[in-house]
Amino acid sequence: MNHKKKRKGVTNYAPRCPYCGSTTVYRSATGIYAENPDDVMLYVCKNYPACDAYIRTQKGTAIPIGEMANGKLRALRTDAHRLFNQLYLKGYMPKQTAYGWLSSVLGVSQDKAHIAQLSELQCELVIRETKKQLAFYDTHKKTTKRRSENHDTDARANANC
Ligand SMILES: [Zn+2]
Repeated sequence: MNHKKKRKGVTNYAPRCPYCGSTTVYRSATGIYAENPDDVMLYVCKNYPACDAYIRTQKGTAIPIGEMANGKLRALRTDAHRLFNQLYLKGYMPKQTAYGWLSSVLGVSQDKAHIAQLSELQCELVIRETKKQLAFYDTHKKTTKRRSENHDTDARANANC
């Protein structure tokens, strides 16, 4: 007989929900994500959907990629990411430089500068600082646009995540 206790849906990596204090369930993202073609696995708050906090895991593992997030935090991270990406998608700086700048804004090393792991306060900081950067480059570009326009267009066409 096997006396090892094994609670369904619970792994060693399972976080607790920081919003309601409940335990989390390890499950497929199907039914939570609009689409789940990559079979993403999540830790979902046991009180879902009343508490809509969850976090996805690193591909092929049961290790969460960061801290649990609710709808508000996920929306903030999406906003922060979209804005931040403009820094290199618009050709204002190379992607690597943008991530270097992000790590200095957050005061963390570059390997920890991931928008998917930011708190609400950090998202608000990144959104505020990125807007300042974009405003600066948007203004700056007006004065340099004419002579580098063709090169800029090529760079933008090739820029991709
Ligand atoms: Zn919860």
